[in-house]
Amino acid sequence: MKILFLHGWQSVPGGVKPTYLAQHSHEVVNPKLPDEDFGEAVSIAQDEFDNHQPDVVVGSYRNISCSWPVSGTRMSRILSRSMTERKNQRQKEDAMLSVFCFPSRYTQGKNATDSLGQEMVGLRLRGPALVIAGRSAIRLLTDTWKTTFREAGIDHAVHPFGGECSHAEIERVKSAARQHKAQVIVGAGGGKVLDTARAAAADLDLPVVNCPTVASSDAPCSALSVIYTEEGVFHEYRFYRKNPDLVLVDTRVIAQGPPRLLVAGMGDALATWFEAKTCVEGHVKNMRGGASTQSALALAKLCYETLLADGAEALRAVQTHVATPALERLVEANTLLSGLGFESSGLAAAHAVHNGLTAAPGTHDYFHGEKVAYGLLVQLVLEGQSRPVLQQVLRFAAEVGLPITLAEIGLKELPKELLHKVASRATAKGETIHNEPFEVRPDMVADAILAADAMGRAWKTMK
Ligand SMILES: [Zn+2]
Repeated sequence: MKILFLHGWQSVPGGVKPTYLAQHSHEVVNPKLPDEDFGEAVSIAQDEFDNHQPDVVVGSYRNISCSWPVSGTRMSRILSRSMTERKNQRQKEDAMLSVFCFPSRYTQGKNATDSLGQEMVGLRLRGPALVIAGRSAIRLLTDTWKTTFREAGIDHAVHPFGGECSHAEIERVKSAARQHKAQVIVGAGGGKVLDTARAAAADLDLPVVNCPTVASSDAPCSALSVIYTEEGVFHEYRFYRKNPDLVLVDTRVIAQGPPRLLVAGMGDALATWFEAKTCVEGHVKNMRGGASTQSALALAKLCYETLLADGAEALRAVQTHVATPALERLVEANTLLSGLGFESSGLAAAHAVHNGLTAAPGTHDYFHGEKVAYGLLVQLVLEGQSRPVLQQVLRFAAEVGLPITLAEIGLKELPKELLHKVASRATAKGETIHNEPFEVRPDMVADAILAADAMGRAWKTMK
């Protein structure tokens, strides 16, 4: 039988199905079809049809529609529907291994930095250590480092962080590490400091210790970095072989930090459960290339529940510069639960929209978690979530002061072209928005960005 096989969207000729048909003594015509130009795809299909006069036209997945306009008399069409694709995908997943990864050790508590040297010795992490530190870490911790490293017999040097986790800064850290013959890299500061420490350590194949001084993101426990350009525009994710050797969180230091950073961390953590659930329901791979586990999903859920229960109290603790049990639980949610949840369950639209928003210069003064919180509203709109879900998220965001309108992330005005740029960036190839269980196009994201803003503004006027 002569078969005209029209391959699926973002597929190529010579796939499993046409090969199978050819191996079973059918003559298969399998032209290359463009992904983005439907008219062109139909015209190629028509030409192939006219030239070869096939007995059957097979349209696979999203090119099913291509087979309809092709003219022919009494021709059968076999439609290899998306259900088949889904079944194939599920079969592939049956073979996909579940992967859950975490740092080798997580230590948290008031004055935890006093124990940094001993913690490192316990893990056989010997010096010299290069400490990459942000400004407030240097101000708050220099004396404590001297004492703890001296007691542990670890030589150390401090490299002041340059301000952006960019390729240039990573190179500066690497040359400082070589200069000091560092055997271990210690990052002490906010998310970007820790991202830089992990990147430099991975390049030099050295162990890495992360000491977040703010609970502003879920980066500290992960085995990946977000790399920005020198101008602060999202550039890429980098993935590493392993998670940090030690994550040490000093809640006394975090209680001294700006309340807004703690709130930003809540924004990052707020998205974790929703993104994790979307990824698990869609059977997509997590950030480590495996299937999720019940454990990771349970931690993501606990993360959300902890935010709702302790977020407001923890914020008051930091406003008062005190460490309380509520702050301890909330810091654990922002840092450990959110970190393990996102990495081992996966990211979806919220983080992709964040990445899109970085393309708008107006958002550059806003923190990762603040933009993620807005990205989450966009995700919930895109997914058509129910009113009670939206209200619970809006109520919490408004209670702790997370942005729920565009104006609150620096986009009081959002011209059409810029909105388009943001939406295109959010839907770029390889973005986590494609973990949503439906096709996400830039126009849908643009609409959801505006709808989320309208929803946030309406919520504010209701209050
Ligand atoms: Zn994040």
